[in-house]
Amino acid sequence: MALFSKKDKSIRISPNRSLRQKQTRDVPEVPDELFAKCPSCKHIIYQKDLGMAKICPSCGYNFRISAQERLALTVDEGTFEELFTGLETIDPLNFPNYDEKLRQVRKATGLDEAVVTGLAKIKGQELALAIMDARFIMASMGTVVGEKITRLFELATKQGLPVVIFTASGGARMQEGIMSLMQMAKISAAVKRHSNAGLFYLTVLTDPTTGGVTASFAMEGDIILAEPQALIGFAGRRVIETTVRQTLPEDFQKAEFLLAHGFVDAIVPRMDLRERIAKLLAFHGGVK
Ligand SMILES: [Zn+2]
Repeated sequence: MALFSKKDKSIRISPNRSLRQKQTRDVPEVPDELFAKCPSCKHIIYQKDLGMAKICPSCGYNFRISAQERLALTVDEGTFEELFTGLETIDPLNFPNYDEKLRQVRKATGLDEAVVTGLAKIKGQELALAIMDARFIMASMGTVVGEKITRLFELATKQGLPVVIFTASGGARMQEGIMSLMQMAKISAAVKRHSNAGLFYLTVLTDPTTGGVTASFAMEGDIILAEPQALIGFAGRRVIETTVRQTLPEDFQKAEFLLAHGFVDAIVPRMDLRERIAKLLAFHGGVK
């Protein structure tokens, strides 16, 4: 006999938890560490004080969050319909231990790849949504990530929907070599077809957005938002310093630096993002 009736299952422990359970497929609950150290102000924080949005109460630093947590914070409860799951890389280079690494990270994150794609609603407005998750091999872009995002754009173009992508990435996935780099062109072509159809594309750059993702679809949004203090760049700091033989400013490649230099349209605190995205969607097409 089941311990709970179906009716009991609908009892909400918290809005976050209830939504997370609905929108992820049997993600194992991993006990969180009790304390976290803020990478920005170095304060030791009791995990519970970070709250649902995982924001440092001392300095406002936005901790990295999972795709599941992002969904819970962003979309209307119960509206997310995940698409394009079950795609697998053919491991074109036969890269040593890549298979095993994928298996482990799938188990640890509850995700099948570094990006979650699907359709959802934000304040009643329909959209195609992609969320990258840095826990999955630093959200590196391999063939599956490229394919999922391309298919999302193609579907959005067909259905006349706006696209919103939360980017996070360490860059192209080295385990898939040149095939990873080719995703940049493939996605960009799909973005262009979506744009030609007069549809709206919004990117939200989260910590960290780097490499081939920055060099392609992350920077191709009609409007580009960023989370406070997010690391955004192409090559790493050390590579650039060695190449140009100059010491770079302390805040180089931070969202605030990019805003000051015109690469980002606005920095939006995590808790305001849902509201801001809803406004931008309404402004660029209205409720569907
Ligand atoms: Zn802090």
